[in-house]
Amino acid sequence: MPLSHRITHLNGGGSDGWDLFNKARAMLARGIDVTELTIGEHDIRTDPSILEAMHRSAMGGHTGYASVPGVRQLRETVAARVQARTGVQTGVDNVIITPGGQAGLFAAHAAVCDEGDAALFIDPYYATYPGTLRAVGAVPRAVQARAENAFQPLAADVDAAATGAASLLVNSPNNPTGVVYGEDTLNGIAGVCQAHDLWLISDEVYETQVWEGTHVSPRALPGMADRTLVIGSMSKSHAMTGSRIGWIVGPREAIAHLVDLATNTTYGVPGYIQDAALFALNEGAPLEDRVAEPFRRRRALAQRILAGQNTVRLVPAQGAMYLMLDVRATGMSGEGFAEALLDTHHIAVMPGESFGAAAAGHVRVAMTIEDDAFAAALATLCDFAAERCRKAG
Ligand code: PMP
Repeated sequence: MPLSHRITHLNGGGSDGWDLFNKARAMLARGIDVTELTIGEHDIRTDPSILEAMHRSAMGGHTGYASVPGVRQLRETVAARVQARTGVQTGVDNVIITPGGQAGLFAAHAAVCDEGDAALFIDPYYATYPGTLRAVGAVPRAVQARAENAFQPLAADVDAAATGAASLLVNSPNNPTGVVYGEDTLNGIAGVCQAHDLWLISDEVYETQVWEGTHVSPRALPGMADRTLVIGSMSKSHAMTGSRIGWIVGPREAIAHLVDLATNTTYGVPGYIQDAALFALNEGAPLEDRVAEPFRRRRALAQRILAGQNTVRLVPAQGAMYLMLDVRATGMSGEGFAEALLDTHHIAVMPGESFGAAAAGHVRVAMTIEDDAFAAALATLCDFAAERCRKAG
């Protein structure tokens, strides 16, 4: 039986960017000892205190259908958190709880894009973005943020692509580059959104992983609160990737319609997961800092290792749990480099090309294994690059 065009074309006909990851997983399944630096999954598990809260809630009976927009206390807590961090007036009606940031990205685009509308996104991008946009019937349109501009998107480039678009999706701190968008970048983007009447969808799932400078939520910029949907998640901030819980913050009318969409799709998030999230948020900054700390530490470690050589260049970045490495000096593509590194040294990193054309010749390294093994893998990667560079030269 034929399946819908929409579902059979989610990947745009090409690779979905996960080939290397799948190859590494297949090697692991065959018993090969692969050092995995691919996906954004912490090497610590969800804190036991959060699991205890989850257990208490489930044993207490919060196992029936939960409130579809989200448990009121959790929505209040998210609203207060967002207001405290951004200064923007935010109430319960500005928040819907979603099954993770990914479901939030899908729902947010469903809310603002009609069938056939162009939906802008910045390249390099998190690998699911184009598929998410196609899944709601929108037509993905990439705007490159170039390596020579430190991967900050230029307002002029967004402006040039904006005609006929309904929305723009941005992500800061950024996956895959780790770049945190500066005020100039965000003000430029806000100006383009207003000039072209675009919705801004701001994916802020890495907001607690900022190593230098400050993260500014574009919803807080003048005139933006009425046209911005912010995607939040407990996955990265609280090592709760498997709990599938996040939120969308936006104008009340948009949230009300998103509740209708949730009623007809997800039917909300399990009550005991929401109670666990509430507990985790109430633990405040100390817990978030504890979850973020290993990445801050490993980034400093990586800076020291990379300073000792001159083949691989670390893209200057201010946040997130990844390093973006420029391997163009080897003469190899990111794909070629990642493939050869996996075959030769059983170290798996993501090819930059998995995240779009703008990241070609780069690889993304997730800082998600313990420090000594991480340092050893990075040193091997640098030696491998130097050797390839010598061969190429
Ligand atoms: N946005 C970005 C940029 C991500 O990297 C991820 C996960 N890796 C997500 C959204 C989705 O996260 P989750 O659904 O776990 O909240």
